Parts: sequence; structure tokens; C-alpha cells
Amino acid sequence: MNWRASVLTLFPEMFPGPLGLSLAGRALREGRWAIDAHDIRAAATDRHRTVDDTPAGGGAGMVMRPDVLDSAIGAVMPEGDARPLIYLTPRGRLLDQATVRSLAEGPGCVLLCGRYEGIDQRVIEARGMVELSVGDYVLSGGEPAALVLLDACIRLLPGVMGAADSAAEESHGAEGLLEYPHYTRPAEWNGRAIPDVLLSGHHAEIARWRRAESERITKERRPDLWARHEAKQRGAGGMDG
Ligand code: SAM
Repeated sequence: MNWRASVLTLFPEMFPGPLGLSLAGRALREGRWAIDAHDIRAAATDRHRTVDDTPAGGGAGMVMRPDVLDSAIGAVMPEGDARPLIYLTPRGRLLDQATVRSLAEGPGCVLLCGRYEGIDQRVIEARGMVELSVGDYVLSGGEPAALVLLDACIRLLPGVMGAADSAAEESHGAEGLLEYPHYTRPAEWNGRAIPDVLLSGHHAEIARWRRAESERITKERRPDLWARHEAKQRGAGGMDG
């Protein structure tokens, strides 16, 4: 069966949105993945289709109701649906490439997009939601976060990326390093030249230069990733030796 994403949102018209274009859009048309977006409001039971209410304990904003969300989830996740139910939230674990890879290897996912102040805690617990964040900043809704998560997963699905744009050597790969810099023609542009080594045709030298640049950039920009990379190298060395 194809990888399938179901999205619960107050704005189903936002999907597939940009994912209907380019690489993801072609893969969607080829049936390599599928998406269905559902309006949470359809699960509301009152005349005004209310999905939110004031926060218990007072304070600003509104909170999405657990009963409405639970019934919206029930309508898209039949008993035995093996896909993880993910709530996009700035309070969640930061989405990283390892999580993306594991999601892409699974059957798909069900994404819940919050609005207002967020959703009632009880439905998070009752439904065993996985809480994921796309970064340490606050969006006005979970929809852009869902698009980010989906884009990252879809490009890893079998047959989506051609050999030309393979994921083998990019940032956040198996080594946990950031990628080296890229250059293309012209060889000189506005007084800036492409590093000689890249024009040397010497593959081993090029590979050495790229590796050194990857390490330098990771060390400089992301000491956290560098520390993890070093620890992993030490661990691997320890097992070999
Ligand atoms: N009151 C919440 C807080 O302080 O954590 C923020 C609510 S935000 C205005 C509304 C919705 O946007 C959230 O329920 C969530 O679904 C989504 N959202 C906002 N920032 C996000 C992020 N960094 N990652 C994932 N989802 C996010």
C-alpha cells in the first residue's frame, strides 16, 4: 500500500498546497503517496460548528475541544490504523532527519494541526499522540508545520528522488554532518573563483576537500551536531577496536 497522510485541520484547502507541485507533486500524481485533508469543524455538533472554548483557569485565547478532536480523529483513523498520530506543536520534540527517515519507512501518518492556543491536553494523552515541533518559534497554526514534515518525508519515499538528487551525501545524513559548499559555472563570478581542487578532476582530493569542509562547517555552525558526530565516531572506534 502507498504511503498515506491524513491531515486534520480547520483549513483543508491548504493541502496538498505546495506539495502538489515539483518533486512531491509528481510523486503524488504517480501514486507514490496519497493525502486526504479533513475539516475538524465537520466533527462539531452544535449549530455554530464550534471547535474551541475558553481556557480552563482563565487566560488569553481559545483551546480546541477534546470531544470534537476525538471524534474528528475517529473518523479518519479506523481501528487498527498503524499510522502514528502526530500533533504538531512548538512544545513537541524537534523534528529531525532520523524521525523523518523512520516516518518515511512506515505506512504514513495522521497529522493534527492546532490553531488558537492549542488543543486540550486530555485528547493528547487519550489518543497517545506523538508531539513534534518543526522549530523553536511559534507559528499561527500547525498547517505549515505539517507541510514541512510531509515534504521531508515524501522526498525519501522510494522512487521520488532520482539518482541525480540522491539523499546519500546531504546534510543530516548517517554521519550527522552538514553538507559541504556547492559551486557551478561560471568558473569565475564577480571576482570569486571556484576552489581549484573542484576543477582538478582529482576525485580523491575532491572527496577529501568536501569532507574537510563538511567538518569545518558543522564544527562552526552546529557544535551540538559536531559533539554528537564525535561521540558516534568514538563509539564506532570503540566497537571496532
Ligand atoms: N500556545 C502555544 C504555545 O505557546 O506552545 C502555541 C499555539 S500556536 C499559536 C497554534 C498552533 O500552531 C499549535 O497548536 C500548533 O499546532 C502550531 N504550531 C505553532 N508553532 C509550531 C511549531 N514550532 N511546530 C509545530 N507546530 C506549531
